Amino acid sequence: MISVKCPHCHVGLKVDEGKIPLDITSFKCPKCKQPISVSFLKESQTESETIVIQPQRLTTGCLTVVANEDTQEQKFLLQEGSYTIGRKSSTSKATIGILTADKSMSREHIRIEVKKDVKGGYRHYLSDNNSKNQTLYNSNFLRNGEIVVLKDNDEIIIGRTILRFNE
Ligand SMILES: [Zn+2]
Repeated sequence: MISVKCPHCHVGLKVDEGKIPLDITSFKCPKCKQPISVSFLKESQTESETIVIQPQRLTTGCLTVVANEDTQEQKFLLQEGSYTIGRKSSTSKATIGILTADKSMSREHIRIEVKKDVKGGYRHYLSDNNSKNQTLYNSNFLRNGEIVVLKDNDEIIIGRTILRFNE
């Protein structure tokens, strides 16, 4: 992790030089949205002043699978984007696969969409994905098509498995 300053708005950024897509030449400053140039440092150039920078994608929330007799504790960090979440299996198209023996959890049980809100924060929209056994959200079944905005410490139950959401 290295610290750099945006040349445009001078905000301090922490970037992870360990995760570098090789095809980018710049990224947007998360504060002022101006492009910040990126150079790639080759092994032979370690003496140069070029810095390798890559924006750390923002983690917006965390989903914790609470351990029970079918399942070990698992944590999944969320970022902006769409997730389908369910029981991990070779035939599942879920983007988050939960390792569990809980067969009452569907392979693609719920969806969470993480979107930017008008204030620049993030909102997490939870819906049931037409699951066989439905989804309990803070002890209430989600209706077909219902979408709720997750808050810190919300509880989601899919099958017999409890997920906790934290911002
Ligand atoms: Zn900036």
